[in-house]
Amino acid sequence: MIVDIKDYQPTDMLRVEEHDVRSAKFPVIDIHSHWGPILLGKDFASKYDTGAVADSLRNYNISKIFNLDLVWDEGLEQMQQKLEGYQDYVITCPSVDYSRLDEPGFPEYVDEYFRKYKESGIKAIKLWKDMTLYLKDKSGSFVRLDDRRYDPLFTCAGKYSLPIIIHIGDPHCLFTPVDAHNEYYDLLCDHPEWVFTGDEYFTFDEHMEMQENVIASHPDTTFIIAHVGSCGEDLGRVDAMMDKYPNMYIDIAARISEIGRQPYTARKFFMKHQDRILFGTDFEANQDPAIFYPPYFRFLETWDEYFDYMGAPRNHDYGHWKIYGIGLPDEVLRKVYSENAVRVFGL
Ligand SMILES: [Zn+2]
Repeated sequence: MIVDIKDYQPTDMLRVEEHDVRSAKFPVIDIHSHWGPILLGKDFASKYDTGAVADSLRNYNISKIFNLDLVWDEGLEQMQQKLEGYQDYVITCPSVDYSRLDEPGFPEYVDEYFRKYKESGIKAIKLWKDMTLYLKDKSGSFVRLDDRRYDPLFTCAGKYSLPIIIHIGDPHCLFTPVDAHNEYYDLLCDHPEWVFTGDEYFTFDEHMEMQENVIASHPDTTFIIAHVGSCGEDLGRVDAMMDKYPNMYIDIAARISEIGRQPYTARKFFMKHQDRILFGTDFEANQDPAIFYPPYFRFLETWDEYFDYMGAPRNHDYGHWKIYGIGLPDEVLRKVYSENAVRVFGL
């Protein structure tokens, strides 16, 4: 009998202690989720009931949640309308139209919007991976993150003390051939649009280099590099950058699959950088929180061994493995869950 790798779902015979952590031990600020068009599409408003989602999240001890989206102007207004009555609970971090980078007035445009954002109480700016992976300039080329045309985004964020939450690149596997050696083989078979192996794309290493250049050249700007500093597969690399750049923070959104398979390394990393790691999940407002949150709490709070990094039915979205808890002490948990976010965003 030959089983297709996509159908291979072995029953786990291991018997070890298990903890069912339905709700976080301390109140949590999730700084990375999506309630708008970036992931839910233009008709996002029809896809969930704001009050119902917010009520359900409170059951998991989520005290506030950041909504990251590429919205501005009317898009931002529509977003706020959808969140009406809950804007203090679901905190929207907007962006600007950086596809205008070739326009002569781009620096002034960014300056004006960031100033307005600051005055209106916006807590952070969202920038996305499209900056280097989708967007092309007027000559038809992809644009480097450290291209001087993007510079106003980073400079103005520093000028107005608006932290930037940025998703740069993607996991290393997405930049390597989809074959028998790729750890995310079945994920990438299902999502060919996430494969960036063509010659026209920047490589994974180029992304890391661009990331470092931007952080290094804007020491007065606070960067929260999403998804474990773009490099959950190699915490040594993230550690080295965080040592060098005090303005660099990370979130752990959608990467407990990576950090949870290296629990010894991850725990040391969390203990060392406990003041600069922020809790995030990549939760989408139309998804079931039961799939997202409990594995994060179990990973951070317990010493449980060999468990799923995402509840059913998305057990093996990223790789065919399970994860281990890192049993963080209460004092560190409190920082990662909320205290760091309160400090960084001035909540
Ligand atoms: Zn995200």
